[in-house]
Amino acid sequence: MDMVSERAQLILGLRQNGILNQTVLAALEAIPRELFVPETFARHAYDDSALPIGRGQTISQPLIVARMTDALDLTRRHKVLEIGTGSGYQAAVLSKLSRRVYTIERHKPLLREAESLFRILDLHNISTRFGDGAVGWAEQAPFDRIIVTAAAPDIPQALIDQLSIGGRLVVPVGPDGENQTLLLGIKAETGLELQELGGVRFVPLLPGVEAGNG
Ligand code: SAH
Repeated sequence: MDMVSERAQLILGLRQNGILNQTVLAALEAIPRELFVPETFARHAYDDSALPIGRGQTISQPLIVARMTDALDLTRRHKVLEIGTGSGYQAAVLSKLSRRVYTIERHKPLLREAESLFRILDLHNISTRFGDGAVGWAEQAPFDRIIVTAAAPDIPQALIDQLSIGGRLVVPVGPDGENQTLLLGIKAETGLELQELGGVRFVPLLPGVEAGNG
């Protein structure tokens, strides 16, 4: 099967798994996931599974990307912050559904690779930053939407502070490797109202930046 029909097959599978939002499905269909996985895994690019992208990190499972994107409830007017660029796949999907995506990664080589894919795919509404995403991106705050693609024991306070009132935040919370819960927070004047979206498994949100990778 060629990549385009494999992608169509994946979209069908996502629909069968309850992703009914047509704009989210169209965004996933528009991004060639095979470009975001290492060459050795290209033939698995359309399996519905997470894959290694180097440096101990992973590109998230398509169903999880779809669920998190769906939960953000994006429009073309939204300014979105992503923590954990990784391969850049989730950011690429978000770029199709929002006004601008700001994405932060603590592994410089991963960020550089993602940036080159954004250029190749003409995704010009993505701004990138090398750094610790737990502190957010104060100069660009507030954000209408925030998505964290690494798991933390607690939601970093800076991210809550940088979310606009009425804004949505999607974040996996829990210990490394197990028992993490995907949370959706909607910010009210009185604080974050939280909903649980189910169990997930993400790599940990780590402090600071990765040393020695220039
Ligand atoms: N959204 C990515 C998923 C990457 S996995 C994708 O679509 O491929 C999570 C990423 O979060 C890893 O690349 C990891 O290096 C990064 N990360 C972990 N802690 C971080 C932090 N504090 N700040 C920024 N990035 C972080």
